[in-house]
Amino acid sequence: MKKIRIVLVAHDSKKKSLAEWVAYNKEIIKNFEIWATESTGKIIVEEIKLPVNLLLSGPLGGDAQVGAMTAEGRVDMIIFFWDPLTPQPHDVDVKALLRLAVLYDVPIACNRSTADFLISSSLLRDWERYIDEHKRPEIPK
Ligand code: PGA
Repeated sequence: MKKIRIVLVAHDSKKKSLAEWVAYNKEIIKNFEIWATESTGKIIVEEIKLPVNLLLSGPLGGDAQVGAMTAEGRVDMIIFFWDPLTPQPHDVDVKALLRLAVLYDVPIACNRSTADFLISSSLLRDWERYIDEHKRPEIPK
């Protein structure tokens, strides 16, 4: 069975919260294929001992990579704890990622309570069928 591909990203002030969320949901997330921006991913590897495919660090292009993966249909869900109180040097990449996730109808949780709803969804039990039935949206040219 194809693994669910999850991408984890957290801005600095949110990394602790994301790490706690991943630790709490480890028994579910360990069955997923995990991708993350570099600094976020390293925390998951070191503190939670889960294997992570590391992308570039967010400010160095990691968020743009997640955006590209999203546009290419290579992402099943995104957990992106972004910081609404701190200006980010890579704000344009953050916006692009959020835009592409909406455009391609990829589930994206930007805070912990939404992430809780996503990870506890009954749709996860039959993910492949859900994806088959729920085709990617037609994008008008
Ligand atoms: P980081 O990137 O995990 O490398 O810190 C996250 C971000 O800033 O978008």
